[in-house]
Amino acid sequence: MKDTAKHQGLRNQLVSTLEQKGITDRAVLDAIKKIPRHLFLNSSFEDYAYQDKAFPIGAGQTISQPYTVAFQSQLLEVKKEHKILEIGTGSGYQTAVLCMLGAKVYSIERQNELFKQTSNLFPKLNIRPKHLSFGDGYKGLPSYAPFDSIIVTAGAPFIPQPLMAQLKIGGRLVIPLGEDVQIMTLLIRKNETQFEKHEFGEFRFVPLLEDKN
Ligand code: SAH
Repeated sequence: MKDTAKHQGLRNQLVSTLEQKGITDRAVLDAIKKIPRHLFLNSSFEDYAYQDKAFPIGAGQTISQPYTVAFQSQLLEVKKEHKILEIGTGSGYQTAVLCMLGAKVYSIERQNELFKQTSNLFPKLNIRPKHLSFGDGYKGLPSYAPFDSIIVTAGAPFIPQPLMAQLKIGGRLVIPLGEDVQIMTLLIRKNETQFEKHEFGEFRFVPLLEDKN
């Protein structure tokens, strides 16, 4: 597992591309500058890893496009020590970005193959999420709730009620909503019963599926 000057150069170019596309959060851009995305992909994709594209990661799933990772991370407004729940660990790349931002990350994956593969990868890269779980993200992680923020990295047909319930007051839930195309949606919890909703345009994700596999 090598990270070379060539990879670093490609990452710097990727960060310029993300800035041109409108990402402004310095901490998010710096995290992307540091994390070796090529090591989250099968080695056959090594030459493409720093293109702003999604790629297959096994079990019919994809690593999110860097722009999408940056956009969702920016919407979370991560502060150091924030307790963040991620639904859809997948390759672990988004998890790594959140860890690099100083968050305590709890992540759930429903595909056992990916859960095992990614759980093994993190220690090799010295990335230490707080908790990795194999299960159904529709249910959240009630035993670790409440969370400062929650990020869903698969397309959800609706907002799972347990996720709203597991958010702190003032907390942020970032979730792509829709079936074929998703609208990036931010919910901010105002009090026990009220959430403020903001929408940010179209994205495309693999679907959020029920149960585990
Ligand atoms: N953050 C990941 C995105 C992977 S794609 C990355 O950048 O690599 C979305 C992931 O969500 C897939 O791995 C998929 O298996 C997972 N997923 C889909 N439905 C889920 C659910 N209900 N609970 C947990 N994970 C789920």
